[in-house]
Amino acid sequence: MERINLTQANTNSALLAKVTRESGQDISACYQCGKCTAGCLMAGAGDGGPRLVMRLLQFGLLDQVLSGKAIWLCAACGICTVRCPREIDVAKVMESLRRMARQTGQRPAEPAVAAFEDLFLTCVSRHGRMHELGVMVAHNIKTGRPFKDADLGQKLFFRGKLRLLPSRVRKVAAVKQLFARTGGGAA
Ligand code: SF4
Ligand code: SF4
Repeated sequence: MERINLTQANTNSALLAKVTRESGQDISACYQCGKCTAGCLMAGAGDGGPRLVMRLLQFGLLDQVLSGKAIWLCAACGICTVRCPREIDVAKVMESLRRMARQTGQRPAEPAVAAFEDLFLTCVSRHGRMHELGVMVAHNIKTGRPFKDADLGQKLFFRGKLRLLPSRVRKVAAVKQLFARTGGGAA
């Protein structure tokens, strides 16, 4: 997604309507001011920030967005949303795009991030809260790096900062209901 490939552009695409429907946001309202990208912590790390994502969507280039890194590097911090003068919830658009990438079977451009999201949401849906040690170990195994951050994990564990076993919130059933109601699991 380094540059816009206009050969596949289709401004009348039903794809734009699909993103609008999924996110509940009016993509066409974006007037490309760039305030979102100026505040985005991850814009420099990938292949373009939220402003470029919005532009690609306006051109109907959904494939370029779904196969790119930006949607996976998005940390869901919400800075873009609060900065947008058009009151577009850009973070919600990014979340919807991650969900759409999964639905279309698109291989994530950042598999380690997608794996973390899966594990995190699975953990929260089961226990109502994060179990850092479990998610860390599972993520290392899933991404084929079993000893990644092992030194740090060991130090944190012996200082009592990491629990060996997960603990549950009291109203875990309510959390499960919430996941069920919202379609549950990873975006
Ligand atoms: S929510 Fe995502 S796209 Fe928006 S500013 Fe944060 S990291 Fe960037
Ligand atoms: S801040 Fe809003 S209007 Fe400006 S480029 Fe980003 S999404 Fe578009």
